[in-house]
Amino acid sequence: MQVNADLHIHSKYSMATSPKMDLPTLASKSLKKGIQLVATGDCLHPKWLCEIKTLKEENGVFKLKAPDSDLKTDANFILTTEIEDINQVHHLLIIPSISKAEELYEFIKPHSKDIDSNGRPNVRLDGKEIADAAISAGALIGPAHAFTPWTAMYAYHNSLKECYGDMAKNIYFIELGLSADTSYADRIAELKCLTYLSNSDAHSPYVNKLAREFNRFEMEDISFDELKMAIIREKGRKPVLNVGMPPEEGKYNESACIRCFRHYTIRESVMKSCSCGGTIKKGVKDRVNELASFDEPQYPDHRPPYIHIIPLSEIIAKALGIGPNTKGVQGVWNALIGQYGSEVAVLIDADIKNSGVDERVIGAIIAFKEGKVKVKPGGGGQYGSVELPGKTNKKKIEPQRSLGDFG
Ligand SMILES: [Zn+2]
Ligand SMILES: [Zn+2]
Repeated sequence: MQVNADLHIHSKYSMATSPKMDLPTLASKSLKKGIQLVATGDCLHPKWLCEIKTLKEENGVFKLKAPDSDLKTDANFILTTEIEDINQVHHLLIIPSISKAEELYEFIKPHSKDIDSNGRPNVRLDGKEIADAAISAGALIGPAHAFTPWTAMYAYHNSLKECYGDMAKNIYFIELGLSADTSYADRIAELKCLTYLSNSDAHSPYVNKLAREFNRFEMEDISFDELKMAIIREKGRKPVLNVGMPPEEGKYNESACIRCFRHYTIRESVMKSCSCGGTIKKGVKDRVNELASFDEPQYPDHRPPYIHIIPLSEIIAKALGIGPNTKGVQGVWNALIGQYGSEVAVLIDADIKNSGVDERVIGAIIAFKEGKVKVKPGGGGQYGSVELPGKTNKKKIEPQRSLGDFG
């Protein structure tokens, strides 16, 4: 079976997250999105773990029926947490059971001041020590959003080995993050054998954040062991698709000033400070250029395709030239979900040509699927912006319309 999974989110117990990041809301929104397996996030946090414990568990997966859904299927949660290490590097852990989560909590507690208050604890241990503990607990661990300039492995280290020491051989995945995709990571030789995860890192449960990036795995059923095999790529279990935002849309794609968002070339970015006095943050694109072993990506045979897509509501809003939180967008969104069942079905799997919704929306979704959208790169903390091709549909678009009308 194929399973859509978003393996990195945060609960209401992390900093700057929505109070709606609770289990029933996550269950409901993940099913609407078309995600069968969603991360709990924050599973070392005692209160969040208590809430997770109330769910029915089967083989490391926690089941919850969405309160507002007439679907027979349950939402499935898998235990995950993100940890910030002593070097400010973020790691993503996927954990087999409640007892192993508790074991990791006990191990980390003496090294963390905020493990009881912050869903994403700050831990005074390095990458090697955290990986050691994670592997001993039977968990999977890898760098979260590996290329971003503030809190990522490649922000502070030049290699897996530098970050994880002799535990590097036990790292089976990296998380690409919103500002990178497979074509970036496959320019770095040491990543060749690793699986790439594309996860949302959502801080709110709404369908424009949750699973804005996700993975599709070939698995026999939904369990921790099956997911582990899929990430390690054993016995036919494997990732078959990565889906996520165009990397240029990420807010740290190009090097830019974090105050005025002026963009800089890699050579200029060594100046570190902008003419406005703000700090220049090196973008993911430039960091990958520094780390790259190859000028062009060298894709290993096991690497699945990467589809670039943005949330459906945002595509509809752009296609119709109206705000994403308008009734017009909601109406088209409802019509499409009503017909095809989930956002993933509409964006990835279904043939929506005869859906009957506005031709401009159909044209825009197809333009994404075919990789025909242009993106003005983000940088310095400001998201990039997507421009739809000018001629999504000749019939409905007046001739004087320009690209700007879709912005
Ligand atoms: Zn993080
Ligand atoms: Zn500036």
